[in-house]
Amino acid sequence: MAERRVVGPPPLEFDLPVHGGFAPVGIGETFPDEAIESDELEIAGEPGQDPAAAFRRTLGMFATGVTVITTHAKDQEGDQVHGMTANAFMSVSLRPPLVVISVDRRAKMHALLHEGRRYGISVLADEQRALSDRFAGRTGEGTEEVEFDVVHETPLVRGALAHLVARVVRSNWGGDHSLFVGQVEYARYGEGQPLLFHGGRYEHLLERAPVFSSLPPEILESITSEGDERTFEEGEFVVREGDPGDDLFVILDGEARVERKGNALATFGPGAFFGEIAVFDGRPRSADVVAATRLRTLAISRDLIREVLMREPRAAWAMLEALAARFRDD
Ligand code: FAD
Repeated sequence: MAERRVVGPPPLEFDLPVHGGFAPVGIGETFPDEAIESDELEIAGEPGQDPAAAFRRTLGMFATGVTVITTHAKDQEGDQVHGMTANAFMSVSLRPPLVVISVDRRAKMHALLHEGRRYGISVLADEQRALSDRFAGRTGEGTEEVEFDVVHETPLVRGALAHLVARVVRSNWGGDHSLFVGQVEYARYGEGQPLLFHGGRYEHLLERAPVFSSLPPEILESITSEGDERTFEEGEFVVREGDPGDDLFVILDGEARVERKGNALATFGPGAFFGEIAVFDGRPRSADVVAATRLRTLAISRDLIREVLMREPRAAWAMLEALAARFRDD
């Protein structure tokens, strides 16, 4: 998996000294007893509903990613890694680079964090749902060992989509949670799909879920056998964002990189399909695809797909099954 590391001299936007006091006078200086005068909350909707549950549900409408917060913990067995699933993570500032997490005061993690202490943030990938459950205490012990990488003396969950290491520079009262503002010392992102959380359940992006690649091989064969071979030199655009999506591509040799606004989203290798969605919905391409190496592809036009589907109703049915499978959440 290709990665970009932000180490050594920071990029310009991160290259700012962090001064002792971040905030203008008067900001961040309220104390618990002064902050809240009343805890009355008006809940609109069904009369008689449990206000606490309705408030939680309201907050749950905000879709987020999922992170695992990590730090070191000392116990009788020595230095241990402690991790906790959190979706209350937010970027705060680019200059200086700051993030914040909100941690339940009853959580073990809460007792481990204080000013000067570092925490790691691992942004989970779609396929790391089990890790999210694990670090939320939703699965029992005995599941396989979790692997960590240590950066800036801070553990980070291996295989996550992005990593940050932050040092706590402020901790603020947040009711039954506390806010730990961290100055980011390290950031790294990779490629892939994020794990999402919405309405109390995990969700995932459908955007690049496979359609063609999940068709039975004999049907795929009847479509691809009539494709048109095209080659691209390294760095050459295969498709550009906004182009009409008239063809889908199958990679025969080499690798292609999907990019949006210059950010790499995914890299595909031999056997992978791309451009599937635009070929069906007829809308413009939503991302660039660039040849990451010399690239040999098979281009399959919308007209050819339509023709094969008319000829072979079995192929049309298989495609409907593949599409329906995308909406299953298991
Ligand atoms: P524990 O409950 O003791 O540990 C958490 C779990 O992680 C345990 O099962 C433990 O065995 C496992 N674990 C810890 N370290 C390791 C390790 N080194 N290797 C393997 N397993 C390990 N709570 C918040 O306060 N803020 C949030 O933003 C937040 N967001 C959440 C989002 C989601 C999607 C979910 C599912 C939960 C969220 N929670 C959040 C709840 C929080 O994850 C749980 O309450 C969690 O159990 C609190 O962890 P803890 O620090 O008390 O430690």
